[in-house]
Amino acid sequence: MENDPLRPDVSWVTPTRRLAHFLRCRFDEACIAQGMAVWRTPDVVTWSGLVERLFALERQAGRIAGRWLPDSAARLIWERIAQRDPATSGLVSPGLLGHSAYESWRRMHAYRIPPEVIAAGDTPETAAFARWAAEYAAWLERHRSMDESGAVDRLDPDARGMTLEFIGFDALTPAQRSFLQRLERSGTVVSHRTAAQAEGHLSWVECVDRMAEYDAAARWAAQRLERRPNDRLAIVVPGLSAERDAVRRVVERVLVPTATLAGGPAPESQGYELAAAPALSERPLAAAALEVLNAFTCIADLAVASRLLRSPFLSGAAVEADKRARLDARIRRGQGPDLGLPRLARLAADHQCPDLARALEASIALTQQWPRRALPSRWSRLWFELLRAMGWPGTELDSDEHQARQRWAQLTAEFGACDDYVGAVTAGEAASLLSDMAQGTLFEPEELRAPVTIIDPATCAGMSFDALWVCALDSARWPAPASPDPFLPRDWQARQRIPGTTAEVAAEDAQRLLGRLCRSAGEVILSVPQFEGDAPLLPSALLAGVRRGELPDSWCARAPARLAFDARPQLESLVDAVMPPLEHAESARGGARLLEVQSACPFRAQAEFRLGARALEEPEIGVAASERGDLVHRVLARIWGDTRDQRTLSSLSKDELRAMIRSTITAETADAQRDAQGVMRHLLEIEHDWLECRVAELLAADLERPPFRIEGVEEQRSISIGGMTLTLRIDRVDLLDDGSVAVIDYKTGGDAEPDAWLGERPRLPQLPLYAEALGMDRVSAAAFGRVRTGDTGFCGLARDSVVFPGLKSPAARGWPSEHSSWQELLQAWRRRLATLATEHAQGDARLAPDPAHACKYCHLAALCRIGETRLIAAAEVTGDD
Ligand code: SF4
Repeated sequence: MENDPLRPDVSWVTPTRRLAHFLRCRFDEACIAQGMAVWRTPDVVTWSGLVERLFALERQAGRIAGRWLPDSAARLIWERIAQRDPATSGLVSPGLLGHSAYESWRRMHAYRIPPEVIAAGDTPETAAFARWAAEYAAWLERHRSMDESGAVDRLDPDARGMTLEFIGFDALTPAQRSFLQRLERSGTVVSHRTAAQAEGHLSWVECVDRMAEYDAAARWAAQRLERRPNDRLAIVVPGLSAERDAVRRVVERVLVPTATLAGGPAPESQGYELAAAPALSERPLAAAALEVLNAFTCIADLAVASRLLRSPFLSGAAVEADKRARLDARIRRGQGPDLGLPRLARLAADHQCPDLARALEASIALTQQWPRRALPSRWSRLWFELLRAMGWPGTELDSDEHQARQRWAQLTAEFGACDDYVGAVTAGEAASLLSDMAQGTLFEPEELRAPVTIIDPATCAGMSFDALWVCALDSARWPAPASPDPFLPRDWQARQRIPGTTAEVAAEDAQRLLGRLCRSAGEVILSVPQFEGDAPLLPSALLAGVRRGELPDSWCARAPARLAFDARPQLESLVDAVMPPLEHAESARGGARLLEVQSACPFRAQAEFRLGARALEEPEIGVAASERGDLVHRVLARIWGDTRDQRTLSSLSKDELRAMIRSTITAETADAQRDAQGVMRHLLEIEHDWLECRVAELLAADLERPPFRIEGVEEQRSISIGGMTLTLRIDRVDLLDDGSVAVIDYKTGGDAEPDAWLGERPRLPQLPLYAEALGMDRVSAAAFGRVRTGDTGFCGLARDSVVFPGLKSPAARGWPSEHSSWQELLQAWRRRLATLATEHAQGDARLAPDPAHACKYCHLAALCRIGETRLIAAAEVTGDD
């Protein structure tokens, strides 16, 4: 391209937007290389764009009438036609079937299969397609509309004086050939650019699997760029759109190593360009617009409110970011799952977010004027108004966001042109249709210019590179298995040689495609995975005659942490793992959980309980695990608070006991039941039934025990330990016949085992701490009261088998071997609790997590930077740089 004479009089036609963008970039580079300061922008248009342009010219000239039907609108019509067909009523997603059928409609026209052949089809799929195609054609006729397929079939444009050069078309379809003949007859000059004929170095190599291929390809690219930074490279991945995330993860580790430090998928970077366009709905700016529509057309729950608060695309988002974040944290703690927008507006005003409050109030006022049903053209105007009132999309947009905004506006306008076939719909239906269209619209910004392009084989047609790596050359994929179109008659597909129809056609296409790839760069490496999961793979037969090579020397990316570390300014190093100590006997926050966290990780305990570094609550559907735990505690506290001893409980008949459990649960869930709506009400009923069974099971276990009385339920106690004071709430204390007490802790989770009380740093030290608060000498048993499906009952440790049968006692099986007696266990608890409490009171904030459990469910990794610390420690041990 760069060596071609610049011909601004020529319009270049490409099969894809990607190639059009590629050519524009190459054209600009060629102009700069020739020392030009200004130049005419080249006219590069996709095939679809050319057809639409010629339609518009013909219409302007008065040679045809009617309207242009955009692709997104055509897909929507097909979706609705398929949904309306009674034959698809049993399907989960008939709309998706409509999308596939639309592709078949395009294929049918591209390969000129006559409608009569379709109508005579003898499979149920072809018969259904024939019905839908007839309905669609009648609709086009009735509404004087023309889609791209119809335009290619029927337009006979007068395009005299136009010069077209076609680039990147592996093969033209019969409909395209016919269209070009008509253009040439009218005086258009048409030429075809043949693929680049690079003669270079070609070899194939083997990798273990596809991940290893991506890794090897990325290292090969990095190594090459280190030597020749101006090279243009490509990694070709068949089925890239399905593999997108896997490819990105592997490649990013090598080409953008710092991306892995931030965690999560990074956006496309300047290091490489991933040429697999995601749906417009996945672009943050469009997703924010859809979120607004969703919030104002459906029930706005806590999750929706939270996303609105965090959106950077709404009015005043930058100025009010901190306040909104605080409000987000607040509503997660204090609201039920249903949080309406008027309430959110009031909360925003109360929490110093005036911009958001104003935007919400203005938007709510607008929505109150909305009709119950309206045509899409009206809804699209109302959407624009609503988004404007919400301040979307903000003011500081970058280039990608500007493009996404334009595409969104275009899509909303396309939706607005769908009155004829959508009809009057509700706001919710309209928003859902627009959301579907956004999901079906692929979009990628045109600004990316990176040295490495990752691309699929079809999209890179017409492009040339300095070097190319083609992945997945195994016999299962090259050639791909035949995949005929299910809606079109097989014999006609074979006759017209539609790609993929038969194994023979697929083999020919694969041969041609591979030939084109091999000619598009000076160096081409073809790689073959040896395994797919556990299944071995063979090299493709198409590799016969290609020289087998060796994997290039593996280029070693330097560890990101090491890179950052090496680039550090000269700083004095100070390890500061101590917080200021607590005042003597100062009350510490956190109760018994404080020692649990201190035991797991001293840093976390200091950060969480003294600095307030808490995780945001996550909105949950249904009854959250924490709410379930609270409910269990409240119900059992109420039952034992009323009953007070085992004898009273045992005097109740089975029915009376059941009735008491039921009425207690009803009383404890009354508030939640009153506020709940819809599904939540059903979920509470299910929870009620579940809890009734579990409580009955636990009380039955209590009735099996020797007599006891209740000394306390949910009793608050203070304890001075290790130089600080803790306030505890003890679930239950039973006074036994011999005057000793059993202390009980209810658990609904799955980790309640007595093992958790053992070791120098016990995982769950609450029960030992309760025993200490009650006076170790008085305690003869400690038990978890487990409340969970299939495993409700007591487990724990006891002084002997008489005080609390069923618990493990000294000399019995299961008693911890490191303790010879109950007294010795209590002494060990006392010592370990004092150690943990002293550590905390003295400000111990070491990063010393329990390796087995601590970090797994901890939210503080970004604050404590344990990942980086471990990387650096590992690098220091291995000497890796
Ligand atoms: S992530 Fe691990 S090391 Fe960091 S604070 Fe949490 S438990 Fe401690």
